[in-house]
Amino acid sequence: MVRRVSIFGATGSIGQNTIDLIARDAEAYEIIALTGGANVDQLAADALRLRAQVAVTAFEDRLDDLRALLSGSGVEAAAGEAALLEAAERPADWIMSAIVGAAGLAPGLAALRHGTTLALANKESLVTAGPLLMATARDHGAQVLPVDSEHSAVFQALVGEDIAAVERIIITASGGAFRDWPLEALEHATLAEASSHPNWDMGQRITIDSASMFNKSLELIETKEYFVVTPDQIEVVVHPESLIHAMVGFTDGAIMAHVGPPDMRHAIGYALHWPVRRALPVHRLDLAQIGTFSFRAPDEDRWPALRLARAVMAEGGLAGAAFNAAKERSLDGFIAGEIKFTEMAAVVEDVLTQLSGDPGLSSAEITLDTVRQMDHLARQRAAEAIAARQ
Ligand code: NDP
Repeated sequence: MVRRVSIFGATGSIGQNTIDLIARDAEAYEIIALTGGANVDQLAADALRLRAQVAVTAFEDRLDDLRALLSGSGVEAAAGEAALLEAAERPADWIMSAIVGAAGLAPGLAALRHGTTLALANKESLVTAGPLLMATARDHGAQVLPVDSEHSAVFQALVGEDIAAVERIIITASGGAFRDWPLEALEHATLAEASSHPNWDMGQRITIDSASMFNKSLELIETKEYFVVTPDQIEVVVHPESLIHAMVGFTDGAIMAHVGPPDMRHAIGYALHWPVRRALPVHRLDLAQIGTFSFRAPDEDRWPALRLARAVMAEGGLAGAAFNAAKERSLDGFIAGEIKFTEMAAVVEDVLTQLSGDPGLSSAEITLDTVRQMDHLARQRAAEAIAARQ
């Protein structure tokens, strides 16, 4: 049976890996929508190649170029937030949510309201509005499938298990670009140095977030929201080889580990074919050649983001939305050269300190509107904190 598929964030790293898998078996899929941002050349090329119904750029000022590239092809061109929502509402069997940042939330919610299975790479959706996203899925009988490699690993380790028998979830972290740098060198880290990952080939923003461990801190919150465990049941361990993606510890003392190459096509392919496993074009590991798996405890002086994530989980409510927005704005600040690498965590901490204790943060109802308001407020506060440091 032909499956109707849409890919949100199709021009990015996860989107392109998804297209790679789908294009290998193109006859099995009908492509409903592909969406992107500024890169309309890539978006149009893939929409033409895969004969998508519609191609949507998030940015209205890119529409003319997209239209010109698709002219006469029969592929519709559209732009802007409303067009993204309209694309998410088109009947489909499976949608990849791989927009980067908080912008991924609204299209994901729209897809779930239509009962569509959501393959979720956009971790920011769970961090900013986990309870809302999961409740929307439940209310509409829709499935959310994790695509982040750690969460896909946990999901796979839990197949056939009773969630009540889970004692702890251990997510691994490579440690990113600065794992072995002297602490005092971190404040001089350049954008180019922060943008290179030792093991994974990913988009620039998540690569920098790996170096600062903001990525892992988002994943801690994502784990709590997706698997409904308490924060003290979630551990992070540094595993420089990036071959064990996560482990689940059970009440009988057993630990199930998920081992695989650092290739996102595994987690994407698992979500694409779930609940069955299909052959995937990923490298097979030679364990004897690898020889050693090593682990170490994460150092919170090097990676203060982990401590901040624990505070956010304790606060609950809209703290995740504030944390993510402050993180996104401080990352913009680092990319633009406004602040140093080490100042990103300091800016986020400033914002959380300012907002914490406000009942609006911990007890407000989580809706798309309240998340957006908190996102806006936290970005504003982060911009002020950045300006104060200049
Ligand atoms: P990329 O930066 O490579 O791609 C992001 C995608 O989102 C692109 O298609 C981009 O379009 C689009 N986009 C950018 N801004 C907007 C916006 N404002 N509105 C709508 N679309 C926009 O990111 P990744 O593929 O690396 O990551 C995507 C998501 O998956 C993130 O949430 C990330 O945390 C998560 N993830 C990524 C992993 C990886 O290996 N890369 C691993 C696990 C999770 P364009 O490029 O055309 O501007």
